[in-house]
Amino acid sequence: MELFDVYSLFEVTPVRASGCRVWDDKGQEYLDLYGGHAVISVGHCHPVYVKALKDQLDRIGFYSNSVVNPLQAGLAHKLGEASGYSDYSLFLDNSGAESNENAMKLASFHTGRDRIIAFRKSFHGRTSGAVAVTDNPAIVSPFNANHKVSFCELDDAEAVECALKKGDVAGVIIEGIQGCGGINVPAPGFLGTLRSLCDKYGACLILDEVQSGYGRSGKFFAHQWEGIRPDIITMGKGIANGFPCGGILISPAFKAVKGMLGTTFGGNYLAMAAANAVLDIIRDEHLIDNAYEVGKYLKAGIPSSPEIKEVRGRGLMIGIEFNGSVAEIRRKLLFEKHIFTGVSGKNMIRLLAPLVITKQDADTFIGALKEVLQ
Ligand SMILES: *Cc1c(COP(=O)(O)O)cnc(C)c1O
Repeated sequence: MELFDVYSLFEVTPVRASGCRVWDDKGQEYLDLYGGHAVISVGHCHPVYVKALKDQLDRIGFYSNSVVNPLQAGLAHKLGEASGYSDYSLFLDNSGAESNENAMKLASFHTGRDRIIAFRKSFHGRTSGAVAVTDNPAIVSPFNANHKVSFCELDDAEAVECALKKGDVAGVIIEGIQGCGGINVPAPGFLGTLRSLCDKYGACLILDEVQSGYGRSGKFFAHQWEGIRPDIITMGKGIANGFPCGGILISPAFKAVKGMLGTTFGGNYLAMAAANAVLDIIRDEHLIDNAYEVGKYLKAGIPSSPEIKEVRGRGLMIGIEFNGSVAEIRRKLLFEKHIFTGVSGKNMIRLLAPLVITKQDADTFIGALKEVLQ
C-alpha cells in the first residue's frame, strides 16, 4: 500500500530533536523556526514533558469520558490561571478543526441560528464546518460549501454589521492573528468593534487561537492584546507540544446540556499529562515573556532588503513578506543553512519557532537570511 499523496514534502527525515534543534537520519542538525507548524511550544523533547508522558503511560493510558479523570479538572484549573479565564469552562477535544466545529455548534445551539460570519484569508481547519468558514476554494468541496457562511474582509466592520442585521447569525469566527492567510493582525480596535456588534445582534464571538494562542503572540491569547473577551476561544496546535489535543474555553453564559458535545479521545490521560506539563513549563520558564522578547528581537533584526516588502506579526508569529516567490529562499535556508521555516502562500516566510528560542538562535537565522539574500 502507498500513502495517499496529499502533502508537498521536503526531502528531510527527522529522527531526533531537542529544544529548537532537529537532527535528520544522516546526523545533520537543523534550527527549527517552524515548530512543526506552531505545534512545538515548549521545545522538542523537553525533559519535564517527556517524563510526564512516560510516567502517565506506566499508570493508565486510556479510559473513556464516562469516568472521572482528575487530570482534566486539573488542566482546567491551571489553564484558567494561566489565561485569565478562570470563570470560563473547558471542553476538551483532539485538534484545532474539531475545536472550531464544537465552537460553531455551541454558538448555534446557544442562539438557535445557523449562519456563521468568517473573514477573507481565514483558515479554520479541514473538517466540514471548519473548512466551510475557511477562505480557500482549493480545499472546500461542494459538500462543505453547503454551510451558511458569510465572508467579510478583515477589519471591515460595516460589512460585518450588514451581515449581522439579517438576524440569522449564530457566531462570528476570527483568528487572533491570521496564520495561513499571511500573518494578518486585526487592526487596533477591530476586535473590540466585533465584540460590540456581536452583543448588539445577539451573536457569539468565537476567537480561533489555535495558532496564535498559548503564548505565541507574547500574551497567552493574541486577542488579549486588544483587551476583549470572546464568548468562545478555540485551541489546538501548541496546547500539548505535539501530542494530539484541542479544546475550547466557553463563557459562563453558555449552559452545558448532557450529551450536547462529546468525543472518544478528547481529554484522554496521555493528552492531559502532556497538556498539564506544557502549562507547567510555560509558567516555570516564563516562556510567554521569552516569546515576546525574542520575537521582538528577531523581527527587529530582519535586514531591510529590496526583496523584502514587509515584516508582520507579534511575538513568535512572524511573517516576512517578499516581493516575489520565497520557494528558493526557503529551500536555501533549509538545505544550505539548515533552518526549518514555514510559509504563508507563495511570497511569505512564516516563522513559528518553539517558545524556548534564544536570541542566539534568532541571530543565527538573521545571519543566514542575510547570506541567502546576497
Ligand atoms: C492549524 C489551524 C487549525 C486546524 O487545526 P488542526 O489541528 O489541523 O485541525 C485551525 N485554525 C487555525 C488558525 C490553525 O492554524
